[in-house]
Formats: sequence, C-alpha cells, structure tokens
Amino acid sequence: MKVAKVVVDVPVSSIDSLFDYEIPDELLSVVKPGVRVVVPFGPRKIMGFVIDITGSSEFEKLKPIHTVMDYAPVLTPELLNLSKWLQEETLCFRVSALQAMLPAVFKAKYEKEVWLLADESELPFEWQIITQGREVFPFNELEESGIKASQISSLVSEGLIEIKYVVKGKNRVKKDTYIEIALEQVKAIEVIEGLGKQAKKQKQVLEYLIDTNGEIRLKQLMDDLGVTRAPIKTLEDKGIIRLVQKEVYRDPHANNNERTKPLPLTEQQQQVIEPVLSRIDENKHEMFLLHGVTGSGKTEVYLQSIDRVLQEGKEAIVLVPEISLTPQMVERFKSRFGDDVAVLHSGLSTGEKYDEWRKIHRKEVKVVVGARSAVFAPFEKLGIIIIDEEHETTYKQEDYPKYHAREVAKYRGQYHKCPVILGSATPTLESYARAQKGVYQLLELSERVNEQALPHMEIVDMRKELEKGNRTMFSDNLVEKINDRIKRGEQVVLMLNRRGYSTFVMCRECGETVQCEHCDISMTYHRTNHKLKCHYCSDEKPMPNQCPKCESEAIRFFGTGTQKVEEALQQQFEHARIIRMDVDTTSRKGAHERLLKKFGNQEADILLGTQMIAKGLDFENVTLVGVIAADAILHLPDFRAAEKSFQLLTQVSGRAGRHELPGEVVVQTYTPEHYTVELAAQYDYESFFNREMQIRRRFAYPPYYFLVLINISHENHVKVVDASQRIANMLSQRLGESALLMGPSPSPMLRIKDRFRYQCMIKYKSRQDVDEPLEHVLNSFQKEMNKEELQLTVDFEPYYFM
Ligand code: ADP
Ligand code: ZN
Ligand code: ZN
Repeated sequence: MKVAKVVVDVPVSSIDSLFDYEIPDELLSVVKPGVRVVVPFGPRKIMGFVIDITGSSEFEKLKPIHTVMDYAPVLTPELLNLSKWLQEETLCFRVSALQAMLPAVFKAKYEKEVWLLADESELPFEWQIITQGREVFPFNELEESGIKASQISSLVSEGLIEIKYVVKGKNRVKKDTYIEIALEQVKAIEVIEGLGKQAKKQKQVLEYLIDTNGEIRLKQLMDDLGVTRAPIKTLEDKGIIRLVQKEVYRDPHANNNERTKPLPLTEQQQQVIEPVLSRIDENKHEMFLLHGVTGSGKTEVYLQSIDRVLQEGKEAIVLVPEISLTPQMVERFKSRFGDDVAVLHSGLSTGEKYDEWRKIHRKEVKVVVGARSAVFAPFEKLGIIIIDEEHETTYKQEDYPKYHAREVAKYRGQYHKCPVILGSATPTLESYARAQKGVYQLLELSERVNEQALPHMEIVDMRKELEKGNRTMFSDNLVEKINDRIKRGEQVVLMLNRRGYSTFVMCRECGETVQCEHCDISMTYHRTNHKLKCHYCSDEKPMPNQCPKCESEAIRFFGTGTQKVEEALQQQFEHARIIRMDVDTTSRKGAHERLLKKFGNQEADILLGTQMIAKGLDFENVTLVGVIAADAILHLPDFRAAEKSFQLLTQVSGRAGRHELPGEVVVQTYTPEHYTVELAAQYDYESFFNREMQIRRRFAYPPYYFLVLINISHENHVKVVDASQRIANMLSQRLGESALLMGPSPSPMLRIKDRFRYQCMIKYKSRQDVDEPLEHVLNSFQKEMNKEELQLTVDFEPYYFM
C-alpha cells in the first residue's frame, strides 16, 4: 500500500503535523510530493499538500485520498522542505508556509481549464469526443466523461495538455482571437481568383492573410483593412479561414526594445564582481554584502553577475522593494535579458501574477525580478539571489508566516550552493555587523561611476527660523532655493515624512524631545489620558506644560499632513506647479506611475511627497531636494528611528543631481546637532554605524540581541491584561539564561478595531533559549485562542511595534 503524508489545511497547531492517507490505485501515478489533494477530515473534506510518499504507516486503518487538485506538482521538493524550515523558524502553521509560496490564485476560488498543447489527434481517442476541435475547454467536462486522473496526469507530464487555474469570474487567462487560412496556399490563391466582384472584402482579407503569411490577431486585421465581421464570417462558413483562440500573456512590461550590452566595468566594480563570479563558477554558497553609495553602479554588477549565471544554464532571483518596482528599474532588467525575465509585484492582478508564476514554473524564463514573495520563485537551478536595498523593511512579511526574505534567500542559497548578494548604500546595522565579523563577505563601492560628487547637503536649524519670526514650515533658505529653481526651469523634490507624526513631543524652541529614561526612545503621546508613555517598558509621565530643558512653553506634539503642506507651499509659491504624492493620491492603480510620468515630462516644478518619493526616482532635471522636517522620523518610538532616518536622508539626497546638473539638498530640522543628521550630511555611513552600535549595545538591541515580539489582543481589556500577565509569567519561568523579558505593556496603539492590544518583548542571544518557552505558550493558549477569540502572535525580528 502506498501512503501519502499530507499537511491539511486546518490551521491549529496541535494537529499541524503530517497525516497519513491511503493512495487509491487510480491515483497512484498522480499523487506526488507537491500535489494538492482533497482528503476526508472528520466529517468534512479539506485541502491538503502531499509532502511525502511512503510504503507504510504506523496507523492501522487509513482513509483514502478523495481526489487530487493538481495534475503536476505545484511545489518543488526544495520548497516543501523550505516550508518545514519556515514553520520552525517563524512558528507558523505549516500550511500557511506552503500557501505563502504559491501565487494568490491558488487561494482564491478558481476553475480549471484544459489547454491542448498538441494536436488533438495525438490524444487518446476518448478525448477527441470531448475536445471536439476546441483547444481550451472546462476541466469539469473531463470529470463528467469519467476520464481517469492517472491519464490526465500522464498527458500533463508528456506535455500534451496543460491544466490552468482561472480565478472565478475575473482575471481569466487572457485569450485573443487569431485568424488564419484553413487551406493550403495554392488552394487559397485559387479561391481568391474565383471570387466575384461583390466579394471584394473577402478577397482583401485573403490577400492580407497570404501577405502576412500566417496567423494574425483578428482585431488587427479588421483595423488594418477597415472591414466588418461579415466577410470574415462568410469565409469561415465556407471553410476557407478559421478563427482560433490563443493565449496572450498579460505582459505589463512588454518590451521590444533592443537589448542593452554589458558596460565595461570600472576598476571598483571589477574588484567587487570578481568574488561573486568565482562563487558562481565554483558552485558555492556565500552571503555578500555589497555596500555601495548611490550611483556607484551596483545594478550593473547585478546584471553582469546574472549574465554569468545564465551562461551556466542557471537561474536568478532579484528582489527589489515594492516601491522600486517602477518601470525605470524593471526596464533595466528587461532590456538586458528580454523575454527571459518575469516580473512579480503587488500592482499586478491575481491573473497577471499567475501568468508570471507560470512562466517560472514552466521554465520559460530564467530571471525573476520581484518584491518579497518572489524569493519563493520555483526555480530548480538557482545560480544567484540578489536583494537590492537590503535595508528596506518591506522584506519582512508582517502576516504569517512572518519571514524575512533575507533569511529565505540564505536558505535557498545554501540549498542551491549559490551566492546571495545583499546590496545597499545604507545597510542595516545587522548586516553590516555581520560583514564586519566575516559572516558576510563585504564588498565596497565607494565612488560614483561618473565620479560626480554626492550632492551637497545643507542643514537648516528651524529653531533659528522661529527666533527670526518665521513661523512657516519653510526656512528662508529653502524658499530662496526653490524660487531660484523655478526661475531656471529646474525641478524640486520635497519630502515630508508623515508617518508617526503627532505622536512625539518636541520643544519648538530648543528641539528637546521627551525620551524614556530606561530605553532611550521617544515617548509616545497618548491623547486619551494626555500622558507620555514608553511602549517598550511602559514607563509613564504626564505631558509637560513646559520644556524640561529650556522651560519654554512652546512644547507640543508634532503634526502636519502632506495636504496641509501642499496648501502652504502653494501660498508661498503662487505660480508653482505642484504634484503631491502620498497614499491618498496614489491609491488608484497606475496613479503612482502617472504622477511620476507627469513630473518626468516636466509638467510640474515641485514634487511633494512622503518617503515613497525617496527611492529609485531618476530625473535629470531635479537639482534640489528638500526635507521638510527630518525630525519627524528621527524621534519615532522605535529603536531603529536613527537608522531609518539616516537611510532616508541618504536615499532622498540621491535624487538630486544624478546627471549633468549638480544637485543640492536642504534638510530642515529642529535638532541639527543630532549625530544622525550630521553624519548623513557628510555621507559618513561608517561613523554612523559605529556611533549607533554603541547605543544598541548599551540598550541591548539588535544586532547585539535578537528580538521576538509577542502581541496579545482581545476585545475585552481585562481579559487581555490577564492573559498577558499569565503569558509573561509562563515565559519568565521557562526562558533560558540569555533571554530578557520586557513587559507586558500596552501596545502604542492600545486599541485597533475594537481590540485591546498588549505586547511582551524578549531580547535573546540564542534561539534555544526562547523556542521551547514560546511553543509552550502557544500550545497552552491554543484553546483560549480558538474559543475565546484571544489573539496571540509571535514575531521574530520584528520591525513593527505599534
Ligand atoms: P546604483 O545601483 O549603485 O545606484 P547604478 O547601477 O544605477 O548605481 O549606476 C548609476 C549610473 O551609472 C547608471 O546610469 C548606470 O548606467 C551607470 N553605470 C554603471 N556602471 C557603469 C560602467 N561600468 N560604465 C559606465 N556607466 C555605468
Ligand atoms: Zn526647550
Ligand atoms: Zn522605556
């Protein structure tokens, strides 16, 4: 008897193990690891993933698998193993890990279609009764005709048919009608000669088809000739032509341009690429950290590394942050590798994503450029994984499984024995520290390719502006410079960081912010009780009426939105044409690109936006970048606030003077003496790193400690407090030596969607010290979570503390 080990789709940890099912004879050739099946589970039938197949089971009576959902594995053996690792690493359900690796279509309601890849005469006889000349037909017709699963599966593996998944209702695989001649050429010409005068249009159509020598889209033919459907219908009825449905890949980045050629590398680039190419050639895993200033030619290094990988018949994954998946970036890969590239990002519809995934699955492409989840691309001969802008927090998934793409890349790099490159101008402290310890190999590009200086960054002290009586948001200096650019017909990018606004308190006279005495983190203003709170250690203070340092009464929480700034800006510069980019103006599909295009066409003088404008933009005519309030992010209640500010300032300044015209940056701040602002202005990453590391060490933050955050929420405030306390007690009794437990304390956002939220944080040095205690907590609270609607999440390497 053959037994399938199945992970069932019931996300409850106590049964989150493998279940044994008997494989019925008729499914023997179909059920393989990586195939999804429907199995009986209690009174229900549910979905499951086949992980393994064995010859026996320790259980006596096994239920049989009901049916299969796939006729070819949707996951590779490597990814099946990876799901186990993800489960252990993030403490998620195995089934969530498996689902995270598949495109969304598999989770939606979908229908299956059968597509013929060969002529129907090559199919078994009983099929021809079903197909009846169709190249595509609904899958359920096979089931209704009693076609055996084993036969379907063998036709799939022979490449005669393909089963496609179509989201119900919408996003169908896109098809187009093509027209072609059904006769041999000579016969067709005979027909044309035999056509009478009244059949002028039919004649035109046939001549056109002979000229184009083959098939053409019906719509294009009708457009080109200006004919209606009538003559086509007549020709079709006579059997002279035929109409066929063909699939068109929805290609959002269709590109027919000429390919770009590899550029001769600079000396630095050459030095940097050398070890990467060796690892590719030697088939050896290594983690590289490519630290290169903006414009130092990192992307060219990526492109040429991938080139080598392709030459060796292998495949490449390139991860870029969602926000950088702008046409500009995608274009660089498409124009080097053409149709070998698939692109995956969240702007695509479910159907479009499925199309791109299929190209990878069917080995029709060799490179995938995509956001976080592209790290699961089902390649089987990976030669390199590249993570650009590795410091971006979007590489961490906030839903289950709460994985970090960097760690998945490392796993896959080890599995495939291939290099992984992490690239950034401002690496995370974690990565840079690892590079210094030799865990990652450090590669440095310290110069810009064009040897242009990085734009000069000027810091403006907003406290002095106030002293001078300037109560607007714009310093005299910035106003003067903007006026100057408008006069010269050059463009300005203004960045305003809205996130986290109005939560921190600052003295507008001396720049003092209120910090927690134990955590070195800005305290958060809580509107409800008018108090300041540290959400790490729950320390509380009344909101001061005057500045604790200079006794000024001008102490208040900070607040402005982009819209308000836009109004103020328009008042200040009456004739300026302004484009505002924030979540409100870019929520519609394609709005982001449209606004950028407008700005690129110089239809505006000023681009005002949130941090979404800091990345990836490359406009020749931009010569001034302004940061309206650097403090807005500097004092976020997050131990990474300084690091994020440094990254943001570096990145946004990189938008100015990328081409011939030299660029300039103006940074407005109330705390110009802050080391982050000072060192960012000098582009001194190294010093910033050293400085910030001291603070991380003193307060036991990463990279000195690892973090895990436990979020607890419930609709009832008393219940959540009680549960949090019990969890904390349980943990403190079990945690290993290296681990420090913080909390429980209320989350900075105490209530979201009518649920009260608390958190505990553990700082630890070794996973061994936290794994067992956390699993114990999860298992102990499982019942309460199911019955009482208590929610409990565990987040390793957390980035989001609100
Ligand atoms: P980064 O990714 O580090 O910001 P890019 O790869 O975008 O840098 O390179 C900046 C500019 O320099 C781009 O316009 C790129 O085409 C150009 N460039 C990169 N490498 C070379 C080279 N070896 N020779 C000439 N130009 C180059
Ligand atoms: Zn003050
Ligand atoms: Zn504190």
